[in-house]
Amino acid sequence: MDALSEYKQIEGPEKAGVLSGVVLGNNRYRIKKVSPSMTIEGATRNSCERDAKLANAFIQEQYEQSGHTSIYMGEWHTHPESNPTPSGADVSSVIKIAYLPDNDLPFVILCIVGLESIYWGCVINGKIQKISVNMI
Ligand SMILES: [Zn+2]
Repeated sequence: MDALSEYKQIEGPEKAGVLSGVVLGNNRYRIKKVSPSMTIEGATRNSCERDAKLANAFIQEQYEQSGHTSIYMGEWHTHPESNPTPSGADVSSVIKIAYLPDNDLPFVILCIVGLESIYWGCVINGKIQKISVNMI
């Protein structure tokens, strides 16, 4: 997930995008692609909204390119803090996504890129929990 470190918010407004990956089976998943930042105009140092159209196009493109195996896995965005934690708005937005009928997975990943560390969380059964991710 080196791609994520490149988005570290050393300066400028928040960035955000989506994660695409595959189901390996036995409750194992692999994130394969991190989208470029895709935010709508008006992002500030502490807030941004990702562009839904561009995000959908990215997910669709990955799906086609992977022979229909890569699907939407979640969201990434940046925080201008060393060790980020999700805001209330972050949590409610991913919980909302988890309940969308077109979400094919029983969870949504929330990734927040901080200046020193990356927060990984997962919404499952309407609650967010911190998860550990193996980098390969
Ligand atoms: Zn946030």
